[in-house]
Amino acid sequence: MTTATSPHPFWLAGREATGESTLEVTSPWDNGDLGSVSVPTAAQTEEAVATAAAVAGEFAATPAHARAAALDRVHRRLGERAEEIARLICAENGKPMKWARLEVSRCISVFRWAADEARRFNGGMAQRLDTDAAGVGRLALTRRVPYGPVLGIAPFNFPLNLCAHKVAPALAAGVPIILKPAPATPLTALLLGELLAETDLPTGSWSVLPVPNDAMPSLVQDPRLPVISFTGSVPVGWSIRDSVPRKRVTLELGGNGAAVVLADYSSDADLDWAAQRIATFSNYQGGQSCISVQRVIADTAVYDRLLPRLIAAVEALVTGDPREDATDVGPLISEEAARRVETWVNEATAAGAKVLTGGARQGASYLPTVLEGVPRDAKVSREEVFGPVMTVTRVDSEEAAFAAANDSKFGLQAGLFTHDIQAAFRAHRALEVGGVVVGDVPSYRADHMPYGGAKQSGVGREGVRFAMEDYTYERVMVLTGL
Ligand code: NAD
Repeated sequence: MTTATSPHPFWLAGREATGESTLEVTSPWDNGDLGSVSVPTAAQTEEAVATAAAVAGEFAATPAHARAAALDRVHRRLGERAEEIARLICAENGKPMKWARLEVSRCISVFRWAADEARRFNGGMAQRLDTDAAGVGRLALTRRVPYGPVLGIAPFNFPLNLCAHKVAPALAAGVPIILKPAPATPLTALLLGELLAETDLPTGSWSVLPVPNDAMPSLVQDPRLPVISFTGSVPVGWSIRDSVPRKRVTLELGGNGAAVVLADYSSDADLDWAAQRIATFSNYQGGQSCISVQRVIADTAVYDRLLPRLIAAVEALVTGDPREDATDVGPLISEEAARRVETWVNEATAAGAKVLTGGARQGASYLPTVLEGVPRDAKVSREEVFGPVMTVTRVDSEEAAFAAANDSKFGLQAGLFTHDIQAAFRAHRALEVGGVVVGDVPSYRADHMPYGGAKQSGVGREGVRFAMEDYTYERVMVLTGL
């Protein structure tokens, strides 16, 4: 597609194009030069939007089998190129290979589900209306109709799969999409474009545009893009929604996920499992997951036996070069990000927190860290750390545990370690989050289940079918005289 020196083209209405400026991509691990990406001009962005709007009607009318076949093809090609794609994710994001491979396998599932949903979706529902006298002889039929082209905006931390969560449901529902990848990780999104370009999806039904951040407000405002699906940080997400109150805006934002360990979760095997899962999913991808474990809340009945296990499990994680198969924890996305984490940990320790392990930075890497005695108002408690840091807190009852978990402005997912089914139901009722994971960490996500946040963590749900519903509305047809 490119020579070693030419910039990677972007995808404008399904075709390769180059602009007048470029964006440099570097490895977070060793600052290696990964090449440059061409950036669309304002005129090229306008062309992509105009084309998406122009083909919207035609695309909505394409038969389900054709859209499903295209998605099936992408699903197959992702599988064939899985290792190469994982290496690219690892290179531009710094994510260890084991997690990059997992991300690719999840993306493969997303496209498989999207192909399945394309076949199922919009089947038409009949509803009898003669339940009231005025409805006698009438029947209602519904079909789902696209609002119009979607603007999908993706973050850096899952450069493939979170692009897939925008693109695959749109194409399955017959909705054109303009995908805007994160500036740190555009190469993976452009590679996904290669696979889309191999399909016979209508020209103009999709674009991958690495638009610079300062050009985003006008794209966000464009009335020809009535739906915005945004995954990223809390301030950017809510500012987008506030700026376009009449658009349909889905926000998948940040969190400071809690893992709660209740008193009954007390056998050696229980605590080994909880410690190992918490250690892994507080630190995987350097903690740069919106649902990584940031706050561990353990009942005093198990706290003293959990803590040494937790520290041992954290210290057993292999840190270092993300290209090595054994590596569990690689660098953060940039040295700046690691410096921010360092500052926050230092602020917490200055306010009385104790570092039980970790607490050191080297370049863009930060050591997996466990903090105890963290004041309630420290940033590592209140804000989203987005780094390999967990706080541990002792509570003396289930009620106190749920209250501590809810003591957050965020509400993405929570993990609950218990065998007590009644406690699980109480948590499901009490915890102010989009999902409660029983028997595991909050970081579990299946790509077809409804996924999203409460409170400041967002609005709307992803998960293939739920995104398709967000991109479309129900239009009723009432039949009379039946
Ligand atoms: P970010 O908000 O900095 O960037 C996200 C995207 O928004 C990027 O593509 C960026 O270029 C774009 N952007 C920046 N300014 C914009 C503007 N003014 N208008 C429109 N778009 C703009 O986030 P990030 O640092 O890439 O990602 C990390 C954040 O994403 C974390 O807060 C994390 O929790 C969150 N996240 C949430 C989920 C979820 O599903 N809830 C998943 C992954 C990441």
